[in-house]
Amino acid sequence: MASEWKKAKDVLHRLNENGFDAYIVGGAVRDYLLKRKVADIDIVTTATPDEVSRLFSKTYRMNNLHQTVIVKHGDEKYEVTTIRGVTIIDDVSLRDLTINSLLMDCNGEVFDFVRGQDDLFQNVLRACEPFDRMIEDPLRMLRVFRFVSELGFDIDQELLSIISTNHERIQDVAIERVIKEWIKLLKGKHRNLALDLIMSTCLFKSIPGLELTEQALDGLSNVKSLKQSTDTVCLTAFCLCLSRINEQYLKNLALSNEQVKKIQARLFYYELRHKKQWNRLDLYDASIQVAIDVENLRNLYNKENQNIAQLLEMWESLPIHQRSELAISGRDLIHALKKNQGPWVKEALMLAEQLVVTGQCQNEKEVLLNAILEEG
Ligand code: ATP
Ligand code: MG
Repeated sequence: MASEWKKAKDVLHRLNENGFDAYIVGGAVRDYLLKRKVADIDIVTTATPDEVSRLFSKTYRMNNLHQTVIVKHGDEKYEVTTIRGVTIIDDVSLRDLTINSLLMDCNGEVFDFVRGQDDLFQNVLRACEPFDRMIEDPLRMLRVFRFVSELGFDIDQELLSIISTNHERIQDVAIERVIKEWIKLLKGKHRNLALDLIMSTCLFKSIPGLELTEQALDGLSNVKSLKQSTDTVCLTAFCLCLSRINEQYLKNLALSNEQVKKIQARLFYYELRHKKQWNRLDLYDASIQVAIDVENLRNLYNKENQNIAQLLEMWESLPIHQRSELAISGRDLIHALKKNQGPWVKEALMLAEQLVVTGQCQNEKEVLLNAILEEG
């Protein structure tokens, strides 16, 4: 058994020794039974967060909303959450889907209070008291389709009709939560099945922030599998299906500024690449990772793409790869030209980069200074 499981069981043992019930719960048990790769191991216990914190040497408190403590054990981290309700059975009945409500104890024995194993082996997504579960936290409606996308399961009829009639309720869910599920949905092996259901239940009209349209979903269904793609490529591929996208749209998705910049760069060079092949200067400006991602995006959209090895060769052959490798600095320029600091410095440096990258000048200080002087 892999070390993350062994260490998780150590955590369960320690809680048990101190008189608390504790189980591995949720996705880890589900994926273990499906023989799928496990993303992370979550633990549920009767111990309170304070009691958990006292029992382990390395712990961090998560937001109090979920009564979760992160327990570090060696290299592994576990989210240890205090049960909601009085018993462990109350807790599992409050989870989103029966297949996510299975428990495993420290001996590896599986406990199922919600017929989750039957659903798992019949490939069905079902919720206990589905109306209450979906209304309590409407993000769960999107999670249902996320699991369709990942697992290819059917949705229980009652659950599906509840989603169809209550999709508007998802409108108030925080976009941070939506986007995480959306990325996972986009990467799923059965993505198009999930997209069809999002369309037929009309959930797409209510998902906040994404501004989905039938056209966009249709476009997305023609994109190749995003399973191996990074979040950045995945989100860029998605943006390319939308008719109008701008910086504000990306910011409204609650992405980090860094992520927004990465997506914008890929969108920009994707556009440029429609018009022309890569040349040395564009490659230098874009940097190799952006160029590789753009070629991957072209492949995802069934467009002919440049050989990555050739692209890497062009990149390797560049005399410099970033401004700091230039033989002159802004300070050198100010000193040599005896001019005050100003926007001209950046422009001159850009000219120097261009001259060096295109092979018009050697990357040498005197050569570059003269060239810049000549340009005025
Ligand atoms: P993954 O493999 O992607 O991590 P997961 O099923 O583990 O999938 P998580 O988002 O990590 O999903 O959540 C862990 C568990 O917590 C779930 O299996 C489920 O039991 C419960 N859970 C998570 N989000 C919700 C929610 N919105 N409502 C109810 N239960 C939830
Ligand atoms: Mg998980």
